Amino acid sequence: MAGFALDTASLVGNTPLVRLKGPSEATGCDILAKCEFMNPGGSIKDRAAKYIIEDAEARGTLRPGGTIVEGTAGNTGIGLALIGNAKGYRTIIVIPETQSQEKKDTLRALGAELVEVPPTAYSNPAHYVHTSRRIAEETPNALWSNQFDNVANRMAHIQGTAPEIWAQTGGRIHGFTCAAGTGGTIAGVGMGLKERDADVTIALTDPHGAALFNYYAKGELTAEGSSVAEGIGQSRITANLEGAPIDTQFRISDEQGLRQAFALLKDEGLCVGLSSGINVAGAMALAEQLGPGKTIVTILCDSGMRYLSTLFNPEWLGAKGFAAPEWLKY
Ligand code: PMP
Repeated sequence: MAGFALDTASLVGNTPLVRLKGPSEATGCDILAKCEFMNPGGSIKDRAAKYIIEDAEARGTLRPGGTIVEGTAGNTGIGLALIGNAKGYRTIIVIPETQSQEKKDTLRALGAELVEVPPTAYSNPAHYVHTSRRIAEETPNALWSNQFDNVANRMAHIQGTAPEIWAQTGGRIHGFTCAAGTGGTIAGVGMGLKERDADVTIALTDPHGAALFNYYAKGELTAEGSSVAEGIGQSRITANLEGAPIDTQFRISDEQGLRQAFALLKDEGLCVGLSSGINVAGAMALAEQLGPGKTIVTILCDSGMRYLSTLFNPEWLGAKGFAAPEWLKY
């Protein structure tokens, strides 16, 4: 095999797995994190973007010179725009206007056409997902990538992320946990790991304001509270979540997630976003449940550099009622 990647799409995946010192020492487990912020577009969603595009090409629903349309919290759009550029497709991205400025600026810089919409409930036809579907229907030679209900998304994790984790741990893994946006990661990694060892515990880590914790705990799609985390927090069972092998679930607050995100940066030199901090807090909860000596894997979904104006800005933190860490009080 040649010593170089053939194209941008083949740079996606094969991310390193890193042991988190603080969380491992605190729990007596090995807490390992998959560095998804190291993908070419800077997030886990590059994997779904690549699979969705390649699946559509294989089915003939995306043809040369075509347009990819998606509703996204930002990261999927960044992956679609990069891989789309590399393959000669135009991208139209519909995004809730509340997403971080960095993500919106990045999408524009990559050449995506950005449509900003006000945040609304999923039941509202103006919701960003429905808006993206309508734009795709009205655009000639366009693919609606439909990351929530297109199972090519979770296939990226069944065929990519899960076997990578299995190989990197040498099959010594007792638990896996992460939060859900589309649910592609938790469902796909869960399915891929259970295929190899049915005893691996798959735990959903849910932010406040999402309905999945109550769904898996007691069969009710209901939510309490709210979260400022971008990219996670689901209120319905998407096609990607159908059949997800969830054994247990945790609910993690923004304060807990921020504490972990700040500790990862200050103590381990890992600069990641809030969904990653929430995942690490969930991994520590799973370690407590399984007991010491276990190996637990979670996901570092995207880079904290994507949130300099929010999570790493003392004024923003203060306005949202969160305490800024000492070293951030510049
Ligand atoms: N974290 C971030 C920052 C994300 O953008 C996303 C994707 N929306 C996720 C986590 C969740 O991934 P998934 O869609 O596979 O559930």
